[in-house]
Amino acid sequence: MSHFVCAKLISEQLGLDEQDFTVGNILPDLVQNQTCSHFKIQKGQIYVPDVEFAVNSVINLDDTTRGYLTHLMLDRRYLDTYVPQFGQHGDNVAELFSGDKIYADYSILNARLLEYFNLDKDKINEIMQHINTCGYPKDEASFIKNINQINRPKVDGKLRFINFDEYVTFLKKTSKEIAQEINLLVN
Ligand SMILES: [Zn+2]
Repeated sequence: MSHFVCAKLISEQLGLDEQDFTVGNILPDLVQNQTCSHFKIQKGQIYVPDVEFAVNSVINLDDTTRGYLTHLMLDRRYLDTYVPQFGQHGDNVAELFSGDKIYADYSILNARLLEYFNLDKDKINEIMQHINTCGYPKDEASFIKNINQINRPKVDGKLRFINFDEYVTFLKKTSKEIAQEINLLVN
């Protein structure tokens, strides 16, 4: 859901084609080989997108490509600046991604983000139905997970690890930073 939020905020700010830009923002998570689609490199204990390499690999800078790069930039900033706050007690960062920590909060977080940022479910569903993974095998499980997140009825329950206001602040600030970065890209 964070990627749809980022797509909305940045396409508005930069006046990009919202549909094309949103497609790019979700594509990296919809293909089977996500190590490849995210240009992942090892950094300490985890794998992070090599944004610089991805940016330098761009041949045709259209709005879908801008969206694709935005996805990688958000994932990278999430791992570099948001996640480390949870590792302050010497936890293994990789452990955070086990079922009972950050991920357990996701369904509640996603439902609240959808509402807070007033995302257009119909528009997102429409985009998802027509998405084309450009010949790369689609990850059906990931695709269905995304569709379910968008269409799930309101989820109640308390966030255990993620502070909603802090996360919203992170998303807004990060989207602004990424918008500046995307704006500076030239073909
Ligand atoms: Zn991703």
